[in-house]
Amino acid sequence: MGIPSQSLYPLPRINQVKSVMGLKRNTRYSRFTVLSDVGEEGLHRLRQARVAVVGVGGLGCVSALQLASLGIGVLRIVDRDIVEISNLQRQHLYTDESVGLPKVEAAQQRLEKQNPDITVEAMALSVTETTAERIVEGMDIIIDGLDRFAPRYALNRACVKQKIPYVFAGALAASGNMTTIVPGETPCLECFLGDVDDEQPTCATVGIYPTILGVIGNLQVHEALRLILGRPLQLANRLLYFNIETLDFHLIPISINKDCPVCGDNTEGKELQTDLDVTVTELCDDQTFLVHARVPEAIDIGRASKILKKHYKIISKSALGIQIQFTDKIQVSVVGEGNILVKGVSSSEEAEAIYHQIIDLLREANH
Ligand SMILES: [Zn+2]
Repeated sequence: MGIPSQSLYPLPRINQVKSVMGLKRNTRYSRFTVLSDVGEEGLHRLRQARVAVVGVGGLGCVSALQLASLGIGVLRIVDRDIVEISNLQRQHLYTDESVGLPKVEAAQQRLEKQNPDITVEAMALSVTETTAERIVEGMDIIIDGLDRFAPRYALNRACVKQKIPYVFAGALAASGNMTTIVPGETPCLECFLGDVDDEQPTCATVGIYPTILGVIGNLQVHEALRLILGRPLQLANRLLYFNIETLDFHLIPISINKDCPVCGDNTEGKELQTDLDVTVTELCDDQTFLVHARVPEAIDIGRASKILKKHYKIISKSALGIQIQFTDKIQVSVVGEGNILVKGVSSSEEAEAIYHQIIDLLREANH
């Protein structure tokens, strides 16, 4: 094959260049507004939009950074975790200086630097049936950056209830999948993927190619963009499967399930049974457990740090989190509303016992 006779990207004629230059466009967004089907109207819609990225890990870092750069009006970010050194190879909102900070705090600082035009709201919260509605409230679109199904089910139910579109996605090893859920118009998550437990392989056990996160995270943002611009969705009623090693790209038709416990004909008595009073989750990082209560504890980080300082060595403290040396081998972080990360223990029982010890200490000091 020779060189194509015509360039794929022909240079504009001089008078076209002048007309583009002559318009008083905000230079930051000029490469976006110049798109013939976007224009100033498209930018205006984007600047008015409110989008939540729930989970700012591998996928959420990609979508949040892209949304911030695009100039989304309000970007809400939600996560309960702290930054670990093993995150840095693929979670590009964080640097070595972020290690130990609550993810939402480090992400907020980075995103506000990325684009000072936008408003970033940080929520250091676990997604549960009791918090999901608060997380989605007031948002136009929810972007999934989660890595477990229990919180996804809670989020899906809150989105169906509040009629908010939810761009579901997941990625593991070399493949990812996603779909766009529009309540009332497309199947919801439980229509086509109900009853998945979280005893699945994770990125800690089977690994993940950071490149798949870039693809899926950007496709999620592109679907959100189409929603904001009022275009037909590419992934409504279709589940995308993509593998970055084989380059398999499948679009699988999915449909509303009449018996769905969330959006079907009879939803009575089909409440989520996932939330115990206290939930313990083993995280991707070795010997780290996250413990949180169904109803989050309101913890004032400034006051908590004063109390904890009397008993333990403080490793780090920031606006939304504190890290302490609990014993020689065990570190504990208190993040946002009642999330306690215990690092250096080998069982969930041990992590839960430490959680209660810390929470009791913080409660006692209240009296
Ligand atoms: Zn459904």
